[in-house]
Amino acid sequence: MSTDPKTNAGLFERAQRTIPGGVNSPVRAFRAVGGTPRFIASARGAYMVDAEGRRYIDYIGSWGPMILGHGHPAVLEAVQKAVAEGLSFGAPTEREIELAEEILSLVPSLEQIRLVSSGTEAAMSALRLARGATGRSKIVKFEGCYHGHADALLVKAGSGLATFGHPTSAGVPAEVVQHTLVLEYNNLAQIEEAFALHGREIACVMLEPIAGNMNFVRASVPFVTKLRELCSRHGALLVFDEVMTGFRVALGSAQSIYAKLIPGFEPDLSVFGKVIGGGMPLAAFGGKRAVMEQLAPLGPVYQAGTLSGNPVATACGLATLREIRQPGFHEALAAKTKTLLDGLLGAAREAGVAMAGDSEGGMFGFFFADALPQNYPAVMATDKARFNAFFHAMLEAGVYFAPALYEASFMSAAHSEADIAATIEAARRALKP
Ligand SMILES: *Cc1c(COP(=O)(O)O)cnc(C)c1O
Repeated sequence: MSTDPKTNAGLFERAQRTIPGGVNSPVRAFRAVGGTPRFIASARGAYMVDAEGRRYIDYIGSWGPMILGHGHPAVLEAVQKAVAEGLSFGAPTEREIELAEEILSLVPSLEQIRLVSSGTEAAMSALRLARGATGRSKIVKFEGCYHGHADALLVKAGSGLATFGHPTSAGVPAEVVQHTLVLEYNNLAQIEEAFALHGREIACVMLEPIAGNMNFVRASVPFVTKLRELCSRHGALLVFDEVMTGFRVALGSAQSIYAKLIPGFEPDLSVFGKVIGGGMPLAAFGGKRAVMEQLAPLGPVYQAGTLSGNPVATACGLATLREIRQPGFHEALAAKTKTLLDGLLGAAREAGVAMAGDSEGGMFGFFFADALPQNYPAVMATDKARFNAFFHAMLEAGVYFAPALYEASFMSAAHSEADIAATIEAARRALKP
């Protein structure tokens, strides 16, 4: 008996014939949780509809970009107008200036920004710029943080602080990651020791300020304070990877939250993606003028892109940012996120299941654990079997959370009180002993 070709299973079978693993980005294959991925036919507001016509309340939002929900009328209108004017010019446009000005007006640490097409590209370019601007080779990243898949960033920790990392992917020569030092997130002693050993050779420290690729782990205030202090003292650049947190956890991004807690705090470089494209391929990196002017055509650090600043993508990003800068937008989004998280934690408590969770703005995470984990080993030690069972029960009930315990979840402006109540009710049933 062959599988019905119009079902999710049928499409997955067909996809695997022509596309490795049937997907164009690995986490979509559901390997972490098992089962058949849903093939999405369309999405509107808070909902996605799969190939079998089943509707899901969507808490992934394309992994973060869809902060307004799917198909927001102002965004669609801007995109349709831009499409009619031309798809790509390979020449500068006024809209790129408008988007750069819009982003700079929201993030005070930025004096200049360059647009690219993916978070991977933005992080890779920021890294090259940090190395070019400092004339140094070594970089520091933290275990569990994801900065896209540039070779030098696909690294896991070495056996000790004196040793550099090992590639996490085949195809990355050891020589390529020999300058990448991987440390434990939120560990102050390790970063002090790393700077004591290598301070004069470190070009930059790259960090997810709220690590969404560990589901939801905040960098502690003492940790960020220490990173800022050490980078400044040793002439290294502090790079905030805000591809996920940017314009999502607050209008001024995660750095605005740390700036409130640490007087005068600013990162040297910032990396953005996801929300700034509003669902189109668009990302950016930016910082102080003196550093950014090291980029070609002004400076010696090469960086380029055929589709960079694409006119349709920039229209989509601009329309999205103009919506989310309306007064009260993030406050309302944060309140909804908190209502949902409190409801999930309450459902777990009622069922006698250990669950811990945290949220900021429109981003949240929950773990099957007694307390919030502070680093990657602690995240991976949370109850995976329970997470996977919960994920599938919720999916069956029409609620789409991220298909892995180490991925964050996202709220959109389109989610209604009724959607949230239905989600909490489904969680109650899913968690019932
Ligand atoms: C998603 C993500 C990236 C990579 O962005 P892509 O657009 O998928 O290449 C980089 N850094 C962080 C923190 C991310 O969440």
